[in-house]
Amino acid sequence: MTDTKYTIIGAGIGGLAAAIALAQKGATVTLFEQAKVLGEVGAGLQISPNGVAVLKSFGLYDAAAKLANCPDAIVLRDYRGASVTRMELGQNAVRRFGNPYWQFHRADLLSVLAKGALDAGVDIKFNHKVANITRNGAGALIEFEEQESQLVDCLIAADGVRSKTRSAVFDGHEATFTGQVAWRGLVSADKLPAGMFGNETQVFMGKGRHLVAYPLRGGSMINFVAVEERKDWTDEGWNIPDDPANLRAAFSGWCQPVETLLAAVDHTFLWGLFSHPVLAKWSDGQVALLGDACHPMLPFLAQGAVMGLEDGWVLADALEKADDIPTGLRAYEDRRKDRATRVQKSAAKNAWAYHLRMPVFRDVAHAIIKKTSPDRLLGKFDWLYGHDVTDGK
Ligand SMILES: Cc1cc2nc3c(=O)[nH]c(=O)nc-3n(C[C@H](O)[C@H](O)[C@H](O)COP(=O)(O)OP(=O)(O)OC[C@H]3O[C@@H](n4cnc5c(N)ncnc54)[C@H](O)[C@@H]3O)c2cc1C
Repeated sequence: MTDTKYTIIGAGIGGLAAAIALAQKGATVTLFEQAKVLGEVGAGLQISPNGVAVLKSFGLYDAAAKLANCPDAIVLRDYRGASVTRMELGQNAVRRFGNPYWQFHRADLLSVLAKGALDAGVDIKFNHKVANITRNGAGALIEFEEQESQLVDCLIAADGVRSKTRSAVFDGHEATFTGQVAWRGLVSADKLPAGMFGNETQVFMGKGRHLVAYPLRGGSMINFVAVEERKDWTDEGWNIPDDPANLRAAFSGWCQPVETLLAAVDHTFLWGLFSHPVLAKWSDGQVALLGDACHPMLPFLAQGAVMGLEDGWVLADALEKADDIPTGLRAYEDRRKDRATRVQKSAAKNAWAYHLRMPVFRDVAHAIIKKTSPDRLLGKFDWLYGHDVTDGK
């Protein structure tokens, strides 16, 4: 694999993971990113133990651990604040899944991955916005908005849910609006009553909407994601600044902690959640898709970025073991497709469970959860969190 030059589009979690995994095996990797610098709208990211396993295999565990928040538990509540269940994470997650459950400011995780990529010798080229991609033999021709075009041997497109490569090369459908929007943002903890949420992930569930809140950076800030079902998305962008008053109005009448948290929001972004159907194939010749470009998912299992980490590791492993690139890329697809599709479907099912509209169904569903032991509930995630793509099985 050291003879081939690998080109990746997109320095998100998935693209950086693939770049690190390939470069650590001695490959020459160039990564093109449209942004001028690595940055992100202020938002949190949960990385479950299966994602931490990949960070560990990259040798980035210690660097990431310094910036991670490790929650004690996840607590599910109804919109009135009553507890439905509490599942212990912390050391319990390590015992059960082999690795901790972490939460990051997204910029912190990106900085760890970017350093890992640079240390492995990846050439990251910022300010390179891809305008068009066409096939050229087994590889591709990349045209940039401002820089010279490039012919590349092997192209991995990790350019997100609105991937140019997917629509240009894979005949992929345009991403469509899923009927859900998410407000995201951060609140400084000193604007809230001390210890209001504890070191826990709180999920509040109500009719057609839910809100997730968890602490970041040693509890100095609280990250929130607030989701609402909507019929349409008319704005041309897909993440736009929104007036916090709209967010407060959507969750008005919810319990005190939700109202107190939202009262303290100064800035928020509204995201349309987009998706596209499962692709018939993920690779063609020496071109492949990875991460959200390939299998975007609703964020209700907090797995999109984690799947990008897993994809990156498996992609490099499959290429290393194959005799040629097309075979390696097909092996990557074979090893990843069932799992990524299962996660996509499970995330969509969670939306339904969180948003039950009829109070009677909601009460019954919550009563069933309450009767189930938290350990058994956590066991439902064994297939997901307990899976380690790096363990060679
Ligand atoms: C509200 C919300 C909460 C979420 N919470 C979680 C969570 O807790 N845990 C989790 O695992 N996942 C979560 N996700 C999902 C996660 O954010 C995504 O799945 C993940 O970021 C996808 O990574 P990616 O690298 O595939 O794509 P992206 O993160 O979208 O990265 C794509 C990169 O490609 C670049 N790019 C795009 N087009 C071009 C172009 N034309 N030229 C050059 N560069 C380009 C972009 O600038 C970007 O850097 C959440 C998503 C949402 C919306």
